Amino acid sequence: MHKTITIRVGKAVSQNNFTVHEDVICAASPFFKAACKPEWMKPEEKVVNLPEDDAEVIRIMIYWIYHDEICIAEVPTLVKGCTIIENFSSPSGLFIKLYVAAQKYQMPRLQNAAIDALLYHQYNQVPLNADLITWVYENTAPDDKLRELNLLLARQCLSATNLKTHGKFFCVEFLLDMTKAFVEQRELGDIDPSVESLYGDEGSGDFCRMFHVKDGCDGECVAFKLYIEHTKEK
Ligand SMILES: [Zn+2]
Repeated sequence: MHKTITIRVGKAVSQNNFTVHEDVICAASPFFKAACKPEWMKPEEKVVNLPEDDAEVIRIMIYWIYHDEICIAEVPTLVKGCTIIENFSSPSGLFIKLYVAAQKYQMPRLQNAAIDALLYHQYNQVPLNADLITWVYENTAPDDKLRELNLLLARQCLSATNLKTHGKFFCVEFLLDMTKAFVEQRELGDIDPSVESLYGDEGSGDFCRMFHVKDGCDGECVAFKLYIEHTKEK
């Protein structure tokens, strides 16, 4: 018999409950395995509270645990090109939050799936906006893979006009990292890999070496894990 538990997401006024199989979620995440132990969870309640999380992100996480695939609600096609219009409810915003949640709940494979989804989504699309970039810096450590990816996308996509218009909204750490990257590049004469070259055509799985976290894969990924979109229920 599969016992179920409730994952309660959000604060008192707007909580969402998700029912999951205890054995499934415990196998997927050491965090939940610990949280389900009797010293943390009252056996009569069977609830894990996640007051700080975003319900949509946890929904995506649970779907991934059951299906090994990231599934987001379909979004209208964004204006292509290097404009700064993505926000927290956009695919990029969701993938970023998913990555941070996966890190928090000790699910490195999901971290890498979120990185792949972000890379795939960002192909030919838009750099992250200042709010998203600041959020990444607030929720990750220096040298985090998500920061590095964020930086590469920004270096390649941000225009001088973007910086002039939105520069004051970027956090200082990000601007310092950008500056450092440009100086290093000049000193070393290095050329950034283009975003296109990361897409893992025959033998160029650089995205794995550069942006995948250890323990989340065998270090030899050759193709992205894609994501799917489902039609929003009315
Ligand atoms: Zn990999």
